[in-house]
Amino acid sequence: MDRTSPASATRSAGPASALPSEEPAAPVPVAILARTSTLYLQDPLASLQRQYRSCEEWLPQGWYVAAFYWDVESGAIDIEDRSQTTSHEQFTAAGLPRDGGMAELLEEAAAPEPRFAAVVCEDIERSGRDTFNALKLERELQDMGVPLFATDEPASVQDISPTTVLVRRVKQGVAEYFRLAIKKKAWEGLRQHTLSGWNIGPAPYGYLAHRVPHPVPIKAAQGRTKTRLALDPLRAPVVARMFTWRVEDHLGVPAITARLNADHGAYPPPDGQHWQEGTVAAILANPKYTGHMVYGRHRKTGRSKTRRLVPAEQWIWTEQPAHPAIITRAMFDAAQTIAAAHRSAGDDPNASPQPLARRTYALRGRVRHDSCQRRMCGTTRTFARYWAEGPDYSNTYYKCTHDVNNPKHAAAHPDHPRTVTIREDTLISQIRDFLDTRVFGPSRAAHLAEQIPATAAQATKQHTRQHDHLVNELARIDRAQRSQITQIDTLDPDPASSAAQAMRQRCYERFTELQAERDTIQGQLQTLDHAAPRNDDTSLLDLIPLPTDTIALHPEHIQAALYQALDIQALYKHDTSQITLFATITTSTPQAVAAILAATSPGQPSAPAPSAPIYPLPQAPMQLSISPDELVTSGV
Ligand SMILES: [Zn+2]
Repeated sequence: MDRTSPASATRSAGPASALPSEEPAAPVPVAILARTSTLYLQDPLASLQRQYRSCEEWLPQGWYVAAFYWDVESGAIDIEDRSQTTSHEQFTAAGLPRDGGMAELLEEAAAPEPRFAAVVCEDIERSGRDTFNALKLERELQDMGVPLFATDEPASVQDISPTTVLVRRVKQGVAEYFRLAIKKKAWEGLRQHTLSGWNIGPAPYGYLAHRVPHPVPIKAAQGRTKTRLALDPLRAPVVARMFTWRVEDHLGVPAITARLNADHGAYPPPDGQHWQEGTVAAILANPKYTGHMVYGRHRKTGRSKTRRLVPAEQWIWTEQPAHPAIITRAMFDAAQTIAAAHRSAGDDPNASPQPLARRTYALRGRVRHDSCQRRMCGTTRTFARYWAEGPDYSNTYYKCTHDVNNPKHAAAHPDHPRTVTIREDTLISQIRDFLDTRVFGPSRAAHLAEQIPATAAQATKQHTRQHDHLVNELARIDRAQRSQITQIDTLDPDPASSAAQAMRQRCYERFTELQAERDTIQGQLQTLDHAAPRNDDTSLLDLIPLPTDTIALHPEHIQAALYQALDIQALYKHDTSQITLFATITTSTPQAVAAILAATSPGQPSAPAPSAPIYPLPQAPMQLSISPDELVTSGV
């Protein structure tokens, strides 16, 4: 097709002939906008040629085609992304003129002297597959003073009539309807594809993609294939081993990852480099290893189109196995149950389907609110941008899980504030200080010696308080039992009085209940009074190696490993804005800390965080604590 020149602009007997005679005599340069899609059963080249022809024929006298913009796309994508595919190249090769796509058209329209005064499309729905994008384009062109015409609408450089707008909107609505209908059909197609046992996407680790000619002869003739999964003799046993570790040994993802990385010969990593925790978690959650095809595990939702995991009971499984199984369905189900347990315990950093837990928080499970003793959970708040193009600004907080709307919570702590939060950076800087001075500082022994009497005094106070409470309880039970006895004494002694009999029976029952309560409390009191004294071994602190740098200078994963090895716990007092920090040192801690610090020592590449082993405690843990002398400012 040749570029049309002003002289050869053809006239049609269509609506253009009805134009008023005062139309400007000067030639009007127009841009044709066309759009085609590979999604529909149409020939994209023929479609573009037809659109060009329709537009050209529609042009009023004196109007000429100055530019031709078109896109080939496979779905409804945003205007700015339109021209980014390269699928147009095959059509330009076929001789179709092209000045660019939608993005270039907008760019040219915004130029100081655009090459065209108006834009024409065959049909208003050709300007955008969905209403939003079509309206956006229309509006953007309008703002630049460039009218948008469709060949089935009258051409007028005056304002577009209300009828035109009405018809245009109706057509856009219909177009949107068809777009959604086609999407649904495509989904049904994919579903059918899966139910027939074909694999979609790359073959999962442990399988090889076995390509077979497409079952539809016409598609096979085009060289298209479908994929079935076949066992990878080298890697399938690795998958089986991973599930065994998970289901029989109850190992967490980090432990399984470490085992795999310990022997790359036996367990070749998927990327040939290194096993990642995310990959391990994904393999342990992939139902295809049962031999069945499963479809609909993820769904894109919301405006952001983020992939969400669909609840397992909504997955579509093939009736019959589609390919060789590596594990049984029972093993898969067991692995999912264990994964859920690990997730709620916070062991698997990479497997958290709940939106709130998608981030991992550095102090997860380490912060408690003092007055209610509840855990404080990490949460991130994102604020409006600092400036128009700036990055989003966010802060991480730990929030008490007390829920004022929960009657149980409210009854237990009626004075609890609605929200109790503290900023993560405040907590972390206090923890770093604490570690630098109390655990790794040169005068740590002196600090501990100073702290111990205070800790001991606190323990004594706590002991006295518990003791007094139990003694009071015993007194209350005494009074209650006495009142039951008094009641029995005042009852009618006549054995024929059934009311008195019933009442007597009830008093006996209540008395027995109180007696049981008394026994329990007496037992508690005895345990409390004979409790073993604290066995603090302060020399353990001296065994902790001294790092050369302050904690803040260590990589974050090393800091995280130290929190774990020292079991750092923070207790937040909201009313006084104070935190109390605890570190627990057992006989195995010095060795674990040394190993963590060695991982960052010079000459050694920074290794991923080793998870500190949790040994059975050989003695009561010694606690280092900072009592309320650490004043911090509340984060909010
Ligand atoms: Zn609380």
